[in-house]
Amino acid sequence: MKRHVASKPQKLKLDNAEAFMDNQEIINYSTERFENDGDEHIFTGIETPMRPDAFVKSDDEKIQLIEFHFRHIMEALGLDLTDDSLMGTPHRVAKMYVKEIFSGLNPANKPDIKLFDNKYRYNEMLVEKDITFYSNCEHHFVPIIGKAHVAYISSGKVIGLSKLNRIVQYYSKRPQVQERLTIQIADEIKKAVQSEHVAVYIDASHLCVSSRGIQDISSRTVTTSYSGNFVNEGTKNEFLKYIS
Ligand SMILES: [Zn+2]
Repeated sequence: MKRHVASKPQKLKLDNAEAFMDNQEIINYSTERFENDGDEHIFTGIETPMRPDAFVKSDDEKIQLIEFHFRHIMEALGLDLTDDSLMGTPHRVAKMYVKEIFSGLNPANKPDIKLFDNKYRYNEMLVEKDITFYSNCEHHFVPIIGKAHVAYISSGKVIGLSKLNRIVQYYSKRPQVQERLTIQIADEIKKAVQSEHVAVYIDASHLCVSSRGIQDISSRTVTTSYSGNFVNEGTKNEFLKYIS
C-alpha cells in the first residue's frame, strides 16, 4: 500500500538551491492531507522507505547539502544567521542528522553480530530489558523516547548481550514509526540469533503528541511483536512478568 502519492507534480524555482539539488524533482504535495495523516501516525511498510540513490552521496556531501537547506529553513523562519549563537546551527544540525540521530539509515553502520554456541542455554529464555532508546517520528521529525524490552529463546546459539542493545539503537537512529521500529528490531534479532522465538515490547512517548498537536504529556504508546513460542500465552506471560 503506497500512500503519500504526489498530486499535480510541479517543479518549483529555487535559484540557489537548484545547483545543489542534482536535478531532483521538487514536488508540490497536497499538504492538508499530509497534516492529517501525520497525526494519525500511519505507517506504510516494514522497510524504511529509501530512495534508490540513498548512498550515492558520501556522508560529507550529505552534511553539506543538509547544512545548505537547513540554513534556508532557519532564514525562512526569519532567524538572523549572522548572530554568533545561530551561525553554526545549520552545520551542527546537518552533522547530527547524518552522524548521529539518523545514522541507522546507512547499512554500513549496522552492528556486526557474532554468534556463539552455547548448548546449555538451549530452549531457555533470555531477556534484555529497559533498553533506553531515542528515535525520531518520521511524520514530525521530533523525538520518540522509550524503553525496549527484548527476548529470545535460544536455538543453541547466543549473541553478546550488548548486541541486543546495538540492534535497538541502530534501528532507532532513523526517522521512524513505532510499529516499524518494533518489527525491524524483532526481524533483526531473529536473523541474528537464528531463532524464530523472539519478543519485542516497546513503551515510548512521542514528543509530537506531548509537545505539540494534542499536547498530551502523559500518554505512552506500547507496541509488541511476538513470534515463535512467544505466541503461546504461558511463554508470553513469563516474558511480561520479567519486564514488569
Ligand atoms: Zn509524529
